[in-house]
Amino acid sequence: MSEKLKKVECDPKCGFMVRSHDEKEIVDITTAHAKKSHNMTVTEADVKKMMKDA
Ligand SMILES: [Zn+2]
Repeated sequence: MSEKLKKVECDPKCGFMVRSHDEKEIVDITTAHAKKSHNMTVTEADVKKMMKDA
């Protein structure tokens, strides 16, 4: 387990940010956030595109 720390940031107006070493956790949290806060369905591929080194 030597994955880099990654982060996903939502729209600045939203302010949501998640940061983890665990990509799966980021995917889970981001998809749940998108659904709950934006009524949007994002796929794992979408989240990975949004992911940056933190
Ligand atoms: Zn958001």
